[in-house]
Amino acid sequence: MPRTTPPRPVDVEAAFPELSGLRRGATRLHPRRGTPTAQDSSVGGPLLWPRAEPWPVCTIPHKRGSGYRYTDVTRKREILAAAGRREPNPGPTAEEIEIIDGFKRGRHAPHLADTDPIPMLAVAQLYRRDVPDLPWTGDDDLLQVFWCGFERHGDTRHDLHVQLRWHRSPDIATPLTEQPAPEVVGREELVPNPCVLHPEEIVEHPYLETLSPDLQARIDAWEGPEDDDGPQYIYDLSTAPGWKTGGYIAWNLTGPRPLVCADCSAELDPLLTADQCEWDPSTTSWVPFEDQPDSDALWANGPTEVSPGRGRLTIAVCPRDPHHPLGLVTQ
Ligand SMILES: [Zn+2]
Ligand SMILES: [Zn+2]
Repeated sequence: MPRTTPPRPVDVEAAFPELSGLRRGATRLHPRRGTPTAQDSSVGGPLLWPRAEPWPVCTIPHKRGSGYRYTDVTRKREILAAAGRREPNPGPTAEEIEIIDGFKRGRHAPHLADTDPIPMLAVAQLYRRDVPDLPWTGDDDLLQVFWCGFERHGDTRHDLHVQLRWHRSPDIATPLTEQPAPEVVGREELVPNPCVLHPEEIVEHPYLETLSPDLQARIDAWEGPEDDDGPQYIYDLSTAPGWKTGGYIAWNLTGPRPLVCADCSAELDPLLTADQCEWDPSTTSWVPFEDQPDSDALWANGPTEVSPGRGRLTIAVCPRDPHHPLGLVTQ
């Protein structure tokens, strides 16, 4: 089933023609629980990975022996998903609850030293045929996204560690069949559920606070108080919530910050945004038509069960060379 975003409640470019010069394409990915194959674009699905190529690992120093067993996280999700589908009595049995309660945080891999290489988690793979707005890198038609299962990197010791790989899929004659995974992850919310994608191209406009002060003031006056029921520029007319490629960053927690390439100082472009939810009470105008009948169901707005950083992570790349260092923004 495709996913279709309803038209925006008002035509903001008609009200503010200068915004038409700032429109930018984005592709909403609309991940939904499913059984993707390596031939599909997916979140949390099997990757088409060349058997001869080393799987990405994290060697940045941090503790990696304590947390949740990766297999416990996936098993718990499977038990709860199956229990949710059970008729006529959905929900886990006493026996299943006992099993899940046994999945505890702990020092499950005490043999791991702080720089031992640990496999990165396969987060997503995107084929260019499904997501045409991926940055151009020659013949490569497949982007693969990984992150470490711990958020203990960077100066703050709370940052994510992300790696990207680009491949030309017809060259992968002998794909890997058994995908590596870490023994332990620091947070369950970094393990994505297998989801198929329903890419949909949309148009976005810049986050309010990145516009000129004059335009911000006119938009503020036009939309009226935030507590009335009218459309709000920030929530309804600028950036889409949920997983997407391209578009603009919603800087709603930190306010806008410059985002420049560490190698060449070019302004970085948003590549992929991973989001804990695809709609919440303030962004219901973005609920796809197909999801509206069940939009309140458990996990309907967060089927990946992923919540990176503060909930939403944008991976940004250099427009001059996507192999330059990444920028990470969490909001
Ligand atoms: Zn790491
Ligand atoms: Zn650069």
